Parts: sequence; structure tokens; C-alpha cells
Amino acid sequence: MQKIPLMDYVGRPLLACIFVVLLLLQWRFPLRRQHFSMLHRLVRNFVLSIPGFAIVRLAMLPIPLAIAMWAQGRHIGLLNCLTLPGWVAVIATFLLMDYAYRWWHWANHMIPLFWRFHNVHHTDLDLDVSTAARFHFGEMIFSVGFLSVAVAVFGIAPIMLLVFFITLEAATLFHHSNWRLPIKLERTLNLIIVTPRMHGIHHSIVQRETNSNWGTIFCWWDKLHGTLRRDVPQDAITIGVAAYREEHELTLGKLLALPFRGQREWRLPNGEIPERAARPADELSE
Ligand SMILES: [Zn+2]
Repeated sequence: MQKIPLMDYVGRPLLACIFVVLLLLQWRFPLRRQHFSMLHRLVRNFVLSIPGFAIVRLAMLPIPLAIAMWAQGRHIGLLNCLTLPGWVAVIATFLLMDYAYRWWHWANHMIPLFWRFHNVHHTDLDLDVSTAARFHFGEMIFSVGFLSVAVAVFGIAPIMLLVFFITLEAATLFHHSNWRLPIKLERTLNLIIVTPRMHGIHHSIVQRETNSNWGTIFCWWDKLHGTLRRDVPQDAITIGVAAYREEHELTLGKLLALPFRGQREWRLPNGEIPERAARPADELSE
């Protein structure tokens, strides 16, 4: 395996530190009440993520990196064709790539084949920093294709690809965490980035709420497309996917097999479609 120094010696240790700090913060200042054993979920999500981690390191970074180097050498892709000052190229990389990821996340919900795999991430019955690692390896394989195309089309520089990827992972850890930030601080942060309360709504069993808040780093894309929802208080959210509510159906083996089985409709086990009767107050933008 060829070394990627920025990822191996800076990115990974940094992300591991962020993970531990968020683990402590969500334990000390919990946001939503948790219903299942934290340790149990931590172990399950971690073990489930091992093949995904391998794919990230062996394919999801090396392949787009090789494409980025090739495109740079041949002046292929948007940013490789323009001669922009360095700082403009940095901003453009973050905006273009995060916007592309917003659509990739949308596609993972809307395209039935992709949803089979992304469903595994959403079946977590509690939401915390460990959910950020809970991705089926099949979703990671599709992501290699998406990231390769995005890097080639936008002409992302190899170093910027790594900086962006590390930031994307850090943002994913942060907005999945169950850390109760002081509301004023979160409202301020949520003017720019996706925060835990905002992403919590995306993990609701109410389908209209799941189909909102697609952003990863910046919250602006959801504002732009009218898919930003901040009107559900966290204690009113039931986390998960309506049709997959039984813990014994969400064991490691069953989660790995879930994409290859028949997919259930978005209904509770009793047949009801979860809805929210009253429109609650807008917690984040009051
Ligand atoms: Zn999602």
C-alpha cells in the first residue's frame, strides 16, 4: 500500500482525536435521550465500518488521487483550466465539492439501488458520533465512482482533495454527534455549517423530515434548494427508519445482508406511516 502522508500522518490521527473528543462531549452533554446501550452500538458500528475503512484507504482515496494528478498534468477539469489565485481555488474546491456531495447524498436516498445501502446508515436506532462510521461497504464502493467523476470534472488538485476529504470526515463526525451545544452557539454555527440538531432531523423516522437537510459541511445548499428544516425539536424526533425498528433485525450479519434483501416500505411495523401532526417551533432559528 502506497503511503498518503497527509492522510496517514495528519488526517487519520486528527480524525481519531476529534472522534474521542466528541465521544466525551456527547457523554458529558447529551442532546437526545439515547434508548440503546452506547457500548453495544459503538462496537457494532465500528465493526460494520471496518470494510468501509479499508475501501476508503485502498480505493476511495488512491483512485481519485491518481485521477487528480492525471487531470492536473493534462489541464483537464474546471479548476485546472482556469488560472485562479491559490485562495480562490481553495474556496472553489470546498464549495464545488460540498455542493456535489449534497447531490450525492440526495441520490443515495432517491435512487433505489443506492438507498438499499444508505438505508443501513439510517437504521441506527440512536444517533451519535459512532453513526458517522456506520456505512455499508457497498455505499463506499459507489462513492469511489462519484468522487472520481467529481474530481475529474472540477479539476481538483491532489493536495486539495485530501484537505477537503479530511474536512468532510471531520464535519460528518461533528454533525452526527449527540453533543448538546449551547443553543446560541449552535444557531451561530448553523448560519454556516451543518450542526447536530440540523442533521438529527435528517435521521427522523418521519419520511418528510428524512428527505431534508442533505448537506455535509455547509448548510447553504439546503437553504438554496428549500430543503432546510430546523422546525423539529430534538426530543420530538424518533431516530431511525420506520420499517426497521426491531433491534434483533439490526444485528451485524443482518445489516451486511440488508441491501440484498427485499426493501420494506416506509411504514412502522404496525403498518402506520409516521407523521407529525403539529408543526413545532423552529428551535434553531428562533
Ligand atoms: Zn442520509
